[in-house]
Amino acid sequence: MNAGGARPSLWKLGLPFMALNLSVLGTLLVGWDRAALAVGLASYLARAFGITAFYHRYFSHRSFRVPRAVQLLGALLGAAAAQRGPLWWVGHHREHHLYTDRPGDPHSPVTDGFWYSHVLWIFDPRNAATRWSRVQDLARFPELVWLDRYEYVAPGALLGACAVGGALLGGPSEALRMALWGFAVPTVLLYHSTFAVNSLAHRFGARRFDTRDDSRNNWFVSALVLGEGWHNNHHRFPNSARQGLSRFELDPTWWGIRAMERLHLASSLRRPPDWALEAARSGRARSLPETAGSPAGQSSGAR
Ligand SMILES: [Zn+2]
Ligand SMILES: [Zn+2]
Repeated sequence: MNAGGARPSLWKLGLPFMALNLSVLGTLLVGWDRAALAVGLASYLARAFGITAFYHRYFSHRSFRVPRAVQLLGALLGAAAAQRGPLWWVGHHREHHLYTDRPGDPHSPVTDGFWYSHVLWIFDPRNAATRWSRVQDLARFPELVWLDRYEYVAPGALLGACAVGGALLGGPSEALRMALWGFAVPTVLLYHSTFAVNSLAHRFGARRFDTRDDSRNNWFVSALVLGEGWHNNHHRFPNSARQGLSRFELDPTWWGIRAMERLHLASSLRRPPDWALEAARSGRARSLPETAGSPAGQSSGAR
């Protein structure tokens, strides 16, 4: 277990990240076909759910329970998005909730500017190491610690599967096409969609609740990342598994968690209080004080 020493951020994080972003240009050379687009869409949606339902709502906020095998599958799905290991992701996200838009927030457009909050923060040596003190509840699972340490295994396996699958279907050119459309393109899109929650959804959009931060409900971000853009709702009720409060606030991640519940793969879903749902329906929530419910900006930590 790395106790907190800074890792070499430019080599370990910066170059692979830049290379992956630039690799998207390779699609201009290899072109596309329906199979490649279908694989790319599936790759995007599955890993987006891994980030939103598992890395975020489950691991960071413990907003529902799952069996240990499902927990591992969710961690693998999130890790395949190449947004670093689950414990690194969760530790930084919990700090974001503890210090939102104040000094100590790892990625705030209010304190550090838009581009730092969007992408530059991940190259900051101060954010290179896993924040073990914030993830003690998760560090007791050796499989999660392993995934955090060997963070390239899950995305590497997905990349390899895409390339091998493409090679079996159509030789080297199809291998490259599948590697790009099945891995690189959806990974880069998911990077910037996820990052938009930290940048755009703390700058642009409506504020239903008077939280102590600058979080916003942003429909565009929500459309990109399966309902995670209802970010003012989320900062008001951080431990809720549901973030869209009205029927117009589409929340596909919540639908997915509900489907898991019906399949007995998830239980103990935490919901926003009835008064918040009613207020969102009637449009009266904006005037409700922050102190009317549970405190904002707190993560529930260990179950
Ligand atoms: Zn936030
Ligand atoms: Zn959160």
